[in-house]
Amino acid sequence: ETTPDQPRRRVLLAKPRGYCAGVDRAVETVELALEKYGPPVYVRKEIVHNRHVVETLRARGAIFVDETDEVPEGALVVFSAHGVSPAVHEEARSRGLRTIDATCPLVTKVHQEAKRFARDDYDILLIGHEGHEEVEGTAGEAPEHIQLVDKAEDVDKVVVRDPSKVIWLSQTTLSVDETMERVSQLRERFPELQDPPSDDICYATQNRQVAVKAMAPECDLVLVVGSRNSSNSKRLVEVALQAGARDAHLVDYAHEVDEAWLDGVTTVGVTSGASVPDVLVMQLLEWLAERGWADVEEITTANEKIAFALPRELRKDLVR
Ligand code: SF4
Repeated sequence: ETTPDQPRRRVLLAKPRGYCAGVDRAVETVELALEKYGPPVYVRKEIVHNRHVVETLRARGAIFVDETDEVPEGALVVFSAHGVSPAVHEEARSRGLRTIDATCPLVTKVHQEAKRFARDDYDILLIGHEGHEEVEGTAGEAPEHIQLVDKAEDVDKVVVRDPSKVIWLSQTTLSVDETMERVSQLRERFPELQDPPSDDICYATQNRQVAVKAMAPECDLVLVVGSRNSSNSKRLVEVALQAGARDAHLVDYAHEVDEAWLDGVTTVGVTSGASVPDVLVMQLLEWLAERGWADVEEITTANEKIAFALPRELRKDLVR
């Protein structure tokens, strides 16, 4: 429908986008557990924060519960990619549950750091979103040593015992820029604040933010496929806006796009959170093509080759 004097409608598609190694592994864990042991397979919390993934697994026999006390004694429960506190492991053990831990190894890495610095008696300032499952799991490793810093105003509330023994750690799925802002605010209060031994914000979160930043300045509209409770997906919307996209929205499915968002739009950027299967992105591209945005150019800022081995508890049963 474009006339010659109309600018060319196009889609910029971010790469990397979608599934990270930790999500891929967690989803495969539930799929294989269903295949190997048969339903029901209980899953504590959403295995990953994506509606489509959860609904698909539920249809195949996974039962999602909030806490392990909802799991019948002796049944099989999978812990989600976001990780769990030692108290949850303990409860599962005491109730005789069979467990498979699908915690992403990069979350486990943060748990190890928390344990190590708590053992060395540091005050640990954990930057993250209050109420997020990952933060609850990490903080549970050393509740007496960890304080959560979410908003800027939390910085003033921090109390430490020895300002020369303070370290910050973070949730894996934060905005890199916002986290650095929080760190510099903390450092104003505690000049000797130490950095984590390696990045806690994971490679997938960082790469997806870099990719969306690269295309955002050219976009009138950025559509991020992802669920409302997905931290890294929500950050992609914020990063897109900060990087110069005129408008940006989060949608679970193509049909959630409001056609009014496309008014006056030439370039649409598309990306997806780390918990989002690419089929949902392909459906969005089809939806856009039907409305005149058929020209898709992939903008690649990194090639990811990371993969994680399946959880040990599952691997041992898969040996054929
Ligand atoms: Fe692991 Fe990062 Fe994926 Fe979270 S977003 S599951 S930390 S790789």
